[in-house]
Amino acid sequence: NRSILLVKRPEGMPNQDNFKLITKDVPEIGDGEVLIRTIYLSVDPYMRGRMNGVKTYADPFELNEVLSGGVVGKVVESRNEKFQIGDIIEGRLSWADYAVSKGDNIRKIDPSLAPISTAVGVVGMPGLTAYFGFLDIGKPKQGETVVVSGAAGAVGSTVGQIAKIKGCYVVGIAGTAEKCKYLKEELGFDQVINYKTDNVKQKLKEHCPNGVDIYFDNVGGEISDAVIRRINYQSRIILCGQISAYNLQSIDSGPRVQGQLIQKSALMQGFIVGDFAKQHREGLKQLGQWVSEGSIKYRENVIEGLENTPDAFIGLFRGENTGKQLVKVNNE
Ligand code: NDP
Repeated sequence: NRSILLVKRPEGMPNQDNFKLITKDVPEIGDGEVLIRTIYLSVDPYMRGRMNGVKTYADPFELNEVLSGGVVGKVVESRNEKFQIGDIIEGRLSWADYAVSKGDNIRKIDPSLAPISTAVGVVGMPGLTAYFGFLDIGKPKQGETVVVSGAAGAVGSTVGQIAKIKGCYVVGIAGTAEKCKYLKEELGFDQVINYKTDNVKQKLKEHCPNGVDIYFDNVGGEISDAVIRRINYQSRIILCGQISAYNLQSIDSGPRVQGQLIQKSALMQGFIVGDFAKQHREGLKQLGQWVSEGSIKYRENVIEGLENTPDAFIGLFRGENTGKQLVKVNNE
């Protein structure tokens, strides 16, 4: 049973030295427990915050402990009557080949509804983040202008498509020409901005001639400063993530744009997907339906091999993924 430990807290950008792969025996299960073999692991930007050793909304990862995150796996042994051998489950489990669960932190997946990998993607945590953040806080109305940063990632690509379903005009901001092409040609975004090569301020002016009604922010920093300069009266700014700041070692001091919120009577609200835990089932049902009828498309960037999980994680901060970043650990 291979697993990956956090052995050194990252300073700035994470690197290989922060992680260590070890091998131990496959764990034995007790009464009420199940043994799960990992099929897919999800790597997510929020894990970077947990590596700092500071308490946020999620507990920090401990040094020399196995890392954990979203996993899709198969039950291979069961002493819990609710789970049978062969069941496919999703839950927050170890970065390892095998994990033991008492059954309270895993949910069964129906493989006939959607590919099982989507249970940690578009029909899982990132999809729910897009769904509740955009609909509950954004309260979109037909014809409104929506800007999404981090638009080609797991959350952003779903937000843009939900916005299209709701009849909005959608502008996506992403970091490569290929991602921008994908957003426009395959996902139906109305306009796209490449923040690495375009003048973001200028392009926002061009693509949002009537201002911005909803800004779904995955990245923070200068991109957000530029978008917030163009917000409309009673616009909504949804603070989902600030990936541009996750590896900074001191607080980023940028232009102060809060005055805009006053002038425009705008709402800026942060959230975490767990706030909507009671409604997750309903969100998954709707997302699953949109995916199965083709109104939400998705991509997955799959890296093979547990040993490559740190690379997959680090890649998030280099923009190596289009859509959801996954690691395929074992075959089904
Ligand atoms: P993504 O799939 O979007 O992957 C991260 C992407 O961020 C990269 O592909 C890269 O794309 C972009 N990126 C990396 N560094 C920067 C930077 N310095 N400036 C701008 N863009 C950057 O990840 P997720 O969809 O899983 O997460 C998106 C955001 O949502 C994250 O900030 C995450 O923390 C947050 N989140 C919040 C949740 C909540 O409950 N509030 C739950 C889940 C996620 P590019 O090539 O475009 O740069």
